[in-house]
Amino acid sequence: MEGQPRVMVCPRCGQPISYVERQRRGNQVYYYAVHYEGYERGPDGRVRKRVRKCYLGPAEYIEVSRTHSDLGLTLKGLMEEGRERDYMEALVKSVRDRIRGGRLTAEGARELATALSRFSEELKELARELSEYAAEEAAHKETAKEAVNETVAAKKALSGH
Ligand SMILES: [Zn+2]
Repeated sequence: MEGQPRVMVCPRCGQPISYVERQRRGNQVYYYAVHYEGYERGPDGRVRKRVRKCYLGPAEYIEVSRTHSDLGLTLKGLMEEGRERDYMEALVKSVRDRIRGGRLTAEGARELATALSRFSEELKELARELSEYAAEEAAHKETAKEAVNETVAAKKALSGH
């Protein structure tokens, strides 16, 4: 997507991701964000990179993307289910607390009301874009599935089964 930062930020800890690690266990694939945190000396006396890993989730939530070349991954699901909603809930709570605590001037309250109603238009627009994105992604997935099915069908036809 245009305007996306080059460095992907970890949805778990908010730190830049050095790379994304893929681990296969059984027939499940899991993803971890790996963060480099300087260097350390190992028990064998060798200096090596110190890493910290954040669990991102199973493959269903993380889609290998054809268009986002930065890390080749889109952190789906995690974003919707976590951070953004937390931020928004925190914002609402902080404004309510200020109202209840009488910590706003009339002018401040009016300004905030104006800013928020403007922002709510943007959020509505954003929600619309998200729905469109979801529909497109679902369509891509269907197309990809069909392509796989066709390949399987072709192979079966070739092998005479
Ligand atoms: Zn992290």
